[in-house]
Amino acid sequence: MPAVSLTHKDNLIKRMARNGISDLAKVFWKRLPQRFYLDKSILKLDLALTRVCNINCCFCPYQITDHKEKIHMSPRIFEKILKDIEDAKIRRVMLSPDLGEPLLAPDFIKKIISLRQFGITEIEVTTNGTRFHRIGIEKLLKEGPDIINISFPGFDNEMYERICKKPFYEQARANILGLLRKNNELGRPKRISLWLRGDLGDEDLMAFPEMSEVEKLADEICMMTEVDDWLGLVKQEMLPPGLRIQKKKPKLTKRPCAILFDLTIHPDGDIHLCSCRNIVRDPDLHIGNILNMSIQQAFEKIPDIFERWESGHFPSICKRCLMYCDPAVSFAGRFRQIANAKFLKR
Ligand code: SF4
Ligand code: SF4
Repeated sequence: MPAVSLTHKDNLIKRMARNGISDLAKVFWKRLPQRFYLDKSILKLDLALTRVCNINCCFCPYQITDHKEKIHMSPRIFEKILKDIEDAKIRRVMLSPDLGEPLLAPDFIKKIISLRQFGITEIEVTTNGTRFHRIGIEKLLKEGPDIINISFPGFDNEMYERICKKPFYEQARANILGLLRKNNELGRPKRISLWLRGDLGDEDLMAFPEMSEVEKLADEICMMTEVDDWLGLVKQEMLPPGLRIQKKKPKLTKRPCAILFDLTIHPDGDIHLCSCRNIVRDPDLHIGNILNMSIQQAFEKIPDIFERWESGHFPSICKRCLMYCDPAVSFAGRFRQIANAKFLKR
């Protein structure tokens, strides 16, 4: 979703440096060695432990997703992934590609512990905050993911029900405040961000009394500015009047979308590219299944998809997508991540 940070503002010098690098990357992209943005080793894996959710956000296609897609990952597939993670020496995973509430995955904490045992050092999750009490807040902070992004409309019951269409406001509120307070008490072991997805403006969302405490305890607060239409599946009439579908469509360039740099594995073991909007299993972005190939083999297929993109054959979903991310814009960050990963693996 298009969003802005309400708490982090880059200073002018940083912004100018980043824009300068991005402009240079745009001009010289064709001459940049691919290893500068797609190294031989795998930087990060997007892993959908589940595509089941317990709420129905009005801006999300989950409400119209086929029931066949709403499944948990089986132990057999998870175990194969663990083995491949160890073999490929992968260090980072993101547990929330596109749809689903990751904390609903059976044995969520046990899976986090297993991922660490097989070499993962950084685990990120995006959650709707309704399940922390079921795991236990202290347990989640001691054994859970390192980075926790909470997607939440804001501190108002009516707005919550308008957006999430479920009566879980009080529980989500208690969980979010409880998690932030406990994290602070424990010396802030986890990085916690709050992503506000309400239908009031930023001033009203920040004016709820809870927000003065949240501002002190959260590492970042972001706000959704517009709603992406999820390839046309989410329509303006599905939204309350305070939310607007994004009007501007970014122009595709021959630089492959930055979201294609990492593999995504679905609960059925299918390996795709695009953790963001590929909910329709675009054949152009399908690589194979984890039971028939290793993660490393799947990763080695990414350059073929880039080659097609660079010759002007864009995947069909990308032609309709509003979320294209020009990799030149994020080039500096990606290059830094690759350099850090190399250093850490040595
Ligand atoms: S919590 Fe996430 S997956 Fe669930 S309905 Fe909301 S946006 Fe969709
Ligand atoms: S353009 Fe959209 S669908 Fe295509 S890779 Fe980027 S985010 Fe995914």
